[in-house]
Amino acid sequence: MSEFANKRVVVMGLGRFGGGIGVTRWLCHAGARVIVTDSADAAALATSLEKIRDLDVTLRLGGHNESDLDDCDLLVASPAVDQKKSAFFHRAVERDIPITSEMNLFLERCPAIVVGITGSAGKSTTTAMTAAIVSAAASAPDWPRGRVWLGGNIGKSLLDDLSDMRREDVVILELSSFQLENAATIAKSPHIALVTNVRENHLDRHGTLAEYAAAKANIFRLQTERDWLLLPDDGGAEHLPAVGSCRSQVTRFGIDWPRREALVPKATGGGRDRIRLDLTLPGAHNLANAAAALSIARRIGCDDATSTRGLNAFPGLEHRLEFVREFEGVRVYNDSKATSPEATMTSMRAFDGPVIVLLGGSDKGGSYESLGDFVAGRAKAAICFGQTGSAICKAVDAGGGEGVLTMVCSDLSEALIRARDVWATGDVLLLSPACASYDQFSNYELRGNAFKQIVSAWG
Ligand code: ADP
Repeated sequence: MSEFANKRVVVMGLGRFGGGIGVTRWLCHAGARVIVTDSADAAALATSLEKIRDLDVTLRLGGHNESDLDDCDLLVASPAVDQKKSAFFHRAVERDIPITSEMNLFLERCPAIVVGITGSAGKSTTTAMTAAIVSAAASAPDWPRGRVWLGGNIGKSLLDDLSDMRREDVVILELSSFQLENAATIAKSPHIALVTNVRENHLDRHGTLAEYAAAKANIFRLQTERDWLLLPDDGGAEHLPAVGSCRSQVTRFGIDWPRREALVPKATGGGRDRIRLDLTLPGAHNLANAAAALSIARRIGCDDATSTRGLNAFPGLEHRLEFVREFEGVRVYNDSKATSPEATMTSMRAFDGPVIVLLGGSDKGGSYESLGDFVAGRAKAAICFGQTGSAICKAVDAGGGEGVLTMVCSDLSEALIRARDVWATGDVLLLSPACASYDQFSNYELRGNAFKQIVSAWG
């Protein structure tokens, strides 16, 4: 009989984007009596609710009800739940109700070799690169391992796939700091853990950089002597606590940007090799992501030639410096995922020539001073739009760049019309807003899609 048969399980957080769907379905199939509770109401959750309509679950939406904890055997909290602030979560802790997460349930039961990738930036790209090259290696007839699975923050819940997974399989997981928050409560860490970088991020949830880094460090806290921890040469790895006392084997990866080389730990023994890469993706940050992916691939036993080929051909992920098209000699990129000034500056560094950058969106309350200085010193034009448009424009003007053209528009489509007035052959037109999208779009994907739609219709 299943370990969950007739158990009362409360799933806290179905999510508008359906983060709780996988675990709800899995628990129901395992015979649990499930209550799904979410602070959002049925209208906001309509798309997600449609996907669990066939299940016999109790719904408690538009808020939580403490009585649901009365005979609760297990609480599965979504990574989106702010554990410090949620009164319902606190009640569960006070009542000593066992608390877990979708990811913990998966990791505890996963029989395969697990690769976990976390970091402040570059998680999705590194995870997708790793999956691409390990999958390519897995198609070789002499591949010594089993199937390759991709999940976590990228892709779908893998809980339903557990029954098909074997010891020799490789599972590649993107893990956010929220997913790692409770990861130390289970007795297992990924066999290969990689941190892309550690910077101030999500401090509204984690409080301090130390707490944020502590959540990230859960990715290796319970590793054993047979496991591997891969850290970047720079990028803030020093903020991670307990690296010195962890039991796993720690190695470093890095880049030599001027030579376009990845510095990757040798597959066996100490030391590193330099591997030249000619990536389709622009930017030093993407070379760092490729070096990370290559380091993992080596640990798993993939051959360098296959990995290098795969990385060079890797087309990138949607909305991250995504090449849209070339029109009238101007190369157009969609970088709608850049929702912070740091991300925008990282992306702009990827281009040497003249860049017309489209900036602006909803206000997170931060300062635009360093962004303004950076753009003023680097861009040909800054076309600012949306709620933060005039504040960013002022910051760029205050940055005092020689000849940088600035203007404020009401929205993205007007910004694109203005861009066409100022561009010349050889320019790059880059949507890299440095802000969230909520003033005009419900997420960065919709903003990026709107941008691509307008740009693709030119002609
Ligand atoms: P994440 O999944 O961690 O949010 P992504 O791979 O989706 O990261 O990349 C999002 C943005 O973060 C990119 O558009 C780029 O601006 C920035 N970025 C990506 N990789 C790195 C890196 N290695 N170092 C610094 N910034 C990066």
